Amino acid sequence: MKILRNYNLSYVDLIKMFKARMVTHEDLAFKLGKPDSERLISIRHDVDVSLEAALRLAKHEKEQNIKSTYFLLHTADYFDYSNKFKKQCHKILEYGHNIGIHNNAVIMSKITGQSQFEILMKPLKFLRSCNIEVLGSAPHGDKVRCREYNLPGLHNKILWEKYKPYDFDLLYHAHEFYREGFVGDGGCILKGWCWPPKTEKVTKYKNLKSFKINIVKKFNGLSNGLMIVLCHPRWWK
Ligand SMILES: [Zn+2]
Repeated sequence: MKILRNYNLSYVDLIKMFKARMVTHEDLAFKLGKPDSERLISIRHDVDVSLEAALRLAKHEKEQNIKSTYFLLHTADYFDYSNKFKKQCHKILEYGHNIGIHNNAVIMSKITGQSQFEILMKPLKFLRSCNIEVLGSAPHGDKVRCREYNLPGLHNKILWEKYKPYDFDLLYHAHEFYREGFVGDGGCILKGWCWPPKTEKVTKYKNLKSFKINIVKKFNGLSNGLMIVLCHPRWWK
């Protein structure tokens, strides 16, 4: 059973709190769900450091009938273009999930001088050459490199001010879905927002009770809408 360390909350309990139909980000991109007429929940995993943790969660999700998308970070140590890495990616697919690319191209371009396009195409080409379909991208918040290279406030999401997903043969980027609610676990802290109020200001929740009242109850009370859950496998043991 995967537990969010700071809250003693099981992963399945978190997901099942939301009374909504589960769809993947790819389903959303293909418009296989109508957030204007039903409640939907879609799970995104940003795999920042540990592919092992992602594989454990992917297996756990399969056992629980949960389908999600794992965004793999092309600058992480595990993304080493090896046969082992290729096999691990296929394992995620075997568990029934999708793979996306966790984009660090803007920051890496600033550091290396290489173009953002080249930086992102290299890992995409590799994954596709391994018969791994990649349709979406989610931006990585690389605070460590921003600090190290003095790039305050720089975020990879601005890639989409210059490019469109189809420039990379992608169908979507994760920020483009219109959503009524968002939940994240960055830093092992439950955070998020749900409309109303009509603001995307992320609130951190110190305990499960206030999270349930301000996010879960509010979202389940809506007649329709999309809830995105961003989960980092490393925080679930
Ligand atoms: Zn990340």
